[in-house]
Amino acid sequence: MSIEELARENVRNLTPYQSARRLGGKGDVWLNANEFPTAVPFGLTQQTLNRYPECQPKAVIDNYARYAGLKPEQVLVSRGADEGIELLIRAFCEPGKDAILFCPPTYGMYSVSAETFGVEYRTVQAKEGWQLDLPAIAEKLDGVKVVYVCSPNNPTGQVINPQDMRDLLEMTRGKALVVADEAYIEFCPQATLAGWIADYPHLVVLRTLSKAFALAGLRCGFTLASEEVIALLMKVIAPYPLSTPVADIAAQALSQDGIVAMRQRVAQIIDERQYLIGQLRDIPCVEQVFDSETNYILVRITASSAVFKSLWDQGIILRDQNRQPTLSGCLRITIGTRDESLRVIDALRAESV
Ligand SMILES: *Cc1c(COP(=O)(O)O)cnc(C)c1O
Repeated sequence: MSIEELARENVRNLTPYQSARRLGGKGDVWLNANEFPTAVPFGLTQQTLNRYPECQPKAVIDNYARYAGLKPEQVLVSRGADEGIELLIRAFCEPGKDAILFCPPTYGMYSVSAETFGVEYRTVQAKEGWQLDLPAIAEKLDGVKVVYVCSPNNPTGQVINPQDMRDLLEMTRGKALVVADEAYIEFCPQATLAGWIADYPHLVVLRTLSKAFALAGLRCGFTLASEEVIALLMKVIAPYPLSTPVADIAAQALSQDGIVAMRQRVAQIIDERQYLIGQLRDIPCVEQVFDSETNYILVRITASSAVFKSLWDQGIILRDQNRQPTLSGCLRITIGTRDESLRVIDALRAESV
């Protein structure tokens, strides 16, 4: 047997997640991964690298619990929110038997994680305004153990109606977990469902330090849920999921000062988003700019593939969403610095003549 044939069938058939980094590009304006545009400096306070780290570093957990308004027992820290997505499948889905469900167009890792573990994934396309199609979800829930709902949704930028989330939580009670992926919640904090965990033991909330906290390179994310769910995830997580430097920096980022600094960054990004949206609406090749509660905006553009390629060749790297259902002609633009906005605006103006 060839090495290829030795591999599991679902792994042979797997298309890996096309992360912004993997797609490459030689740019000087990187607006394709929803990162914060500038680096925040941190130093290490611990010199104990000869020792294994704590599995769930207490300072990180305590700080995040305080920030999220939950008990430490309701918080799990992992190698990014992506690891949280994966742990939930590993702990709750029997390969070849159970399924997960999500609503495209949305984040790509739900399907990739399910495929990697040989777990079926089902999709129910979002309806008008990319809100949940609850009757269609109800019809497909048989055998589903985890429903992923990204809110605000990546890449469309809108919050999912809270009443629909309540209806979904009622519909899944005793049958499946509902996972609210809140990777961008700092840009619309009033929309968080973390406060609902007390009422719904099957609600899980995913968070990350990669976006508003400006720490995508740190690889640190959080799962918030009832103590029961967290205890189950603790059984399947790696013994040392975070390195000591990661825990050290995460604890600093989540200090009172760190939270204040994060809120200032959010205000800066929201100002810049308003500026960019205003400018884009005046550019002829821009057909539609969708409202956003996040640090990115979705735009529909005439001849979007050619425009995407042209900007790519000029070193302006955006995210092409053209192949996602209902997003033909759409590009996603991360909000960056004012200089980066001006580069995008000038390049798109030039495409319009
Ligand atoms: C960026 C992102 C994540 C991943 O966050 P990490 O903590 O960097 O793994 C998860 N979900 C959504 C919707 C994201 O956009």
